[in-house]
Amino acid sequence: MSSSIVSTPAPFNEAIGAYAPGSAERASLKARLAALMDQQLDIPVAIGEREIHTGRLAESRPPHDHGHLLGRYHEAGEKEVALAIESSASVKNHWSSMNWEDRAAIFLKAADLLAGPYRDEINAATMLCQSKTVFQAEIDAACELVDFWRFNVHFMEQLYAVQPESADGMWNTMDYRPLEGFVFAVSPFNFTSIAGNLPTAPAIMGNTVLWKPSSTQTYSAWVIMKVLHEAGLPAGVISFLPGKGAEIGGPVLASPDLAGIHFTGSTQTFRHLWRSVGENIDRYHSYPRLVGETGGKNFVFAHPSAHVQSLVTALVRGAFEYQGQKCSAVSRAFIPASLWDEVISGMQEQMSRIEMGSPLEFNNFVCAVIDKKAYDKISGYIAHVKNSDDHRILAGGECDDSQGYFISPTLVEADSPRAKLMCEEIFGPILAVHRYADQRMDETLAEVDKASPYALTGAIFCRDRAEINRMSTALRFAAGNFYINDKPTGAVVGQQPFGGGRASGTNDKAGSIYNLVRWMSPRVIKETFAPPLDFPYPHMDED
Ligand code: NAD
Repeated sequence: MSSSIVSTPAPFNEAIGAYAPGSAERASLKARLAALMDQQLDIPVAIGEREIHTGRLAESRPPHDHGHLLGRYHEAGEKEVALAIESSASVKNHWSSMNWEDRAAIFLKAADLLAGPYRDEINAATMLCQSKTVFQAEIDAACELVDFWRFNVHFMEQLYAVQPESADGMWNTMDYRPLEGFVFAVSPFNFTSIAGNLPTAPAIMGNTVLWKPSSTQTYSAWVIMKVLHEAGLPAGVISFLPGKGAEIGGPVLASPDLAGIHFTGSTQTFRHLWRSVGENIDRYHSYPRLVGETGGKNFVFAHPSAHVQSLVTALVRGAFEYQGQKCSAVSRAFIPASLWDEVISGMQEQMSRIEMGSPLEFNNFVCAVIDKKAYDKISGYIAHVKNSDDHRILAGGECDDSQGYFISPTLVEADSPRAKLMCEEIFGPILAVHRYADQRMDETLAEVDKASPYALTGAIFCRDRAEINRMSTALRFAAGNFYINDKPTGAVVGQQPFGGGRASGTNDKAGSIYNLVRWMSPRVIKETFAPPLDFPYPHMDED
């Protein structure tokens, strides 16, 4: 107990390690990778103080080496969901009435543990479990999750500091209560940082959380749980429920105590969750907050004044890093006829230098796609291109799943902005490009805006200031994160809060104060110092 008005440390973005040949950080990470390859983890369900081995086992295997077993995890089901709801209710009072500074300290400590002693482990787990290169793992699993924890603490403090005016004789205050009940966090496979942020953003605000990680990310998700417990997060604040979506989602969504959903994943799954909430609406004690960041069909639009080399590099990095499995990955590009030959030959040249293989070999730029289901879906698009008249492969197009789920970076020309590969989310290393006539700029911008139902990220490349403004206005609602002369991936917490509209989500901007606002229900308190002692007002007196 202390008498002070404290400030939390100023947040800063975690510096990205280079892992250059000969560096100590590279040697240390390689040792950790070797150790993880040498052991098989047995990952439990974690509820309150208990680690539960349900015996319903599923496997974690590296997507680039599916013959190797990394470990097994125990799947939760209806019984574990009931236990988790009970456990969450039992710890709720303790957690929500804890001083906010103490909650802050737990997450700041978690950030430092992840940036330091757990950095190798979270990076190695992410490289093996999700087939990320060392750079992709470092910017995600280590740096971005550290950033989420440091910045969310800072945003919590900023929010709590917002207080109403008080007129003479009274004191008005806001009590930023957490939601009543629990929050259901459902995370995707593709970012370890998002997996860590979805349960912890509501928890920082004093909520208790049931967390269902993605089946293909359970291995690195478990490292996050270890960090949080070591940082002092009380048992029961976050229940860890790996398993099948429907088996966990069904009973969770039927609970009267559901206070909110914090989701990232496909549009289809989020719509299913939203629909289930609608069907169950009469059961709930409160109206659940629904926050979901979902699919995308992210664009790059090149103006005839674009700088070709930077455009080409942005397309290659934006479309193919992490095998095109970033929610923000470029998936369709519009190139003016006047630049077409130069852009396509530039891309073919850069793509011919891309090496693909295991993330254990650090020279690889592209690794495997996440699992067999994704491999079948993405290779199905390549098969469609090969059999269609309105698409043509310009580079790549090879698929091989004999050792891992490998699909080579693929460039496809599409005749129409409405062609299949220009409109549907593929979520793999395929970039569809459309050649537009320079004089049809306005019509083409209208197609960028309307041809796909999504509105997550987008970029324009242009060196003419007046044209930049015109294009930015035409595409104002086409992307929640909009880039000028840069690739549309790589948003940084605290710098480019992330999220999109339309079919891409509720746009509650992960990594910003706007997201944290959703996890509280303010109470306004008015205290009057000298209350009136009788009911009549002055106007009621005799003249
Ligand atoms: P997904 O929808 O298949 O799965 C997401 C999560 O939902 C997983 O944990 C899954 O098990 C769970 N789930 C599925 N059915 C469920 C149910 N009935 N009840 C409860 N949970 C259920 O998505 P994914 O393949 O893991 O991720 C890829 C998708 O995520 C892409 O569409 C991508 O665009 C999107 N994404 C969006 C953002 C963003 O910020 N907009 C970020 C990352 C990923």
